[in-house]
Amino acid sequence: MKITGTMINYFFHCRRQCWLFSNKLNMEDNSERVRIGKILHEIEEKKARKSEIAIESIKVDKITEQFLIEFKKSDADIDAAKWQLLYYLKILKNKGIKRAGKLTFAEKNKQASKVLEFDLTPDLEKELDHVLIQIEECVTRDTPEQPLYDKKCKKCAYYDYCYI
Ligand code: SF4
Repeated sequence: MKITGTMINYFFHCRRQCWLFSNKLNMEDNSERVRIGKILHEIEEKKARKSEIAIESIKVDKITEQFLIEFKKSDADIDAAKWQLLYYLKILKNKGIKRAGKLTFAEKNKQASKVLEFDLTPDLEKELDHVLIQIEECVTRDTPEQPLYDKKCKKCAYYDYCYI
């Protein structure tokens, strides 16, 4: 199974969301928030004067001599963004390209800094391998997990699908 960066992000955000997206129940286009995220993403990209770089099943925002850089709309779910970035670092590493990771947030709510840096350490890579197995198990189940009933659901593109 080809695991994408979005699947990793959604797995940490909500396993039900990961299942729905991976099983082609894609409601992203209905979400105003997602549209804003895409626009901000494009602006950051233009600023960087780089296009997304496609590698296997992933698209990374920017690669410099030192860093793989991902642009994010907000720092609302740093854990999800972090594991997505680590997955990208792993794919690059498997291609013989070693980089540190950098997350750049357009809006910052929870962090003092707009930029966070991460390295794919051996321990994190081991953890990531376990995460990939868990994602495969999650998305190949016949049905998704139950809705979270969490406040973050109000901002989710799948809200109508889960609750209405
Ligand atoms: S609305 Fe909530 S439960 Fe449903 S997919 Fe989104 S985050 Fe998950």
